[in-house]
Amino acid sequence: MSAAAPAWIGVGSNLDGPVAHVRAALDALATIPETDFIEASPLYGSAPMGPADQPNYVNAVVQLRTALEPHALLDALQRLEAEAGRERVGERWGPRVLDLDLLIFGEHRIDDPRLRVPHPGIAGRIFVLRPLADMEPDLEVPGLGPVDELLARVPEGGLWRLEADGA
Ligand code: ATP
Ligand code: MG
Ligand code: MG
Repeated sequence: MSAAAPAWIGVGSNLDGPVAHVRAALDALATIPETDFIEASPLYGSAPMGPADQPNYVNAVVQLRTALEPHALLDALQRLEAEAGRERVGERWGPRVLDLDLLIFGEHRIDDPRLRVPHPGIAGRIFVLRPLADMEPDLEVPGLGPVDELLARVPEGGLWRLEADGA
């Protein structure tokens, strides 16, 4: 796959046993066609963003390497969300069994009605920046700068590392 690009995926769940949903998502991400699974971050717990009357989240970030086009990768991510039982209803940032966000796709910058890359939430989200920094602190987020510098600017708190067994 010499034409493959690195792609970073944010994984989140806060319903029905979120650790198991995130682990299953890591396995599922490894099955995407024309795509290699490179690495997963540790799992983190996080306080919910947006509506507060919902369970805490479990989050991780995954690095893939893919020959798919960005929109085809988004299709694959949305298919996996649907297979995990996610229904696209309800309020923005409400509870969900699985959220797969395309965070970074190589050096691409995309802004169309279906897809924005880099994901517009990256710079403000510790549950994305901390796991990205665990894997590649020097990673350059196109248009924004290196991950470790972005992480230094977000308020601390609301994020905790989960033990390997998900406790
Ligand atoms: P947020 O994107 O702020 O984290 P969310 O993940 O809850 O919110 P979703 O309901 O999962 O939002 O997705 C809403 C729409 O966002 C999707 O239908 C998708 O087309 C669009 N979208 C735009 N850019 C991206 C991206 N980089 N990754 C995933 N979805 C995206
Ligand atoms: Mg999201
Ligand atoms: Mg999403």
